[in-house]
Amino acid sequence: MIELLKKEYIVIHHTGIKNSDDNSFLVWESIKKLHQIKYKDRFHWYVADYHFGISRDIRVFNGNSIEHPCFHSGDDNINFKSIAVTFFGNFDEELLDKKQFDLGVLMISDLVKRFNIKYEKILKHSEIVNTSCPGKNFPFEELKKKVVSNVNDEWKKDSLIFAEKRGWIKSEDKYDEGIDMGTFLTVLKNFYDLEIANLK
Ligand SMILES: [Zn+2]
Repeated sequence: MIELLKKEYIVIHHTGIKNSDDNSFLVWESIKKLHQIKYKDRFHWYVADYHFGISRDIRVFNGNSIEHPCFHSGDDNINFKSIAVTFFGNFDEELLDKKQFDLGVLMISDLVKRFNIKYEKILKHSEIVNTSCPGKNFPFEELKKKVVSNVNDEWKKDSLIFAEKRGWIKSEDKYDEGIDMGTFLTVLKNFYDLEIANLK
């Protein structure tokens, strides 16, 4: 039985297979087949060395389900605690398509939010072991930066909706207007009441 551990890391890979006009579904099937040869007889649930694959034709493919580990990073300590995301392509030889990049940002932002992943724990494969994966042309820092600002914006939006519902701000887009002393004290009192309630 493989123990379930909290997901702490997201590790970015490329498939190493240069993008072509081949049907992405068939490419994914061939990757799955290759990976299953290694593990399927021991682990019946094994689908692929990745949890998700992001293709150039803007599709997301599923590998192992998230509660199962992928043997993807070369470091078992990380394998059991990580989500493996791969981008279709070989980014030692080609450039990442803008649309594929954008889909990756969305996908990874969602995972960061859902699993509460710390930004410094979004890694590229080459930060774990000696490999060029996800490729020397892969815009990793740019991707990470985009994910961070995306997630921060979403957290901010959640807070603004929360505040608007309680009448602390006039509206989501007018949150920069100063609040009056009465509103400020109400917020403070609500917070204080909540804290006291939690202590009891
Ligand atoms: Zn890799």
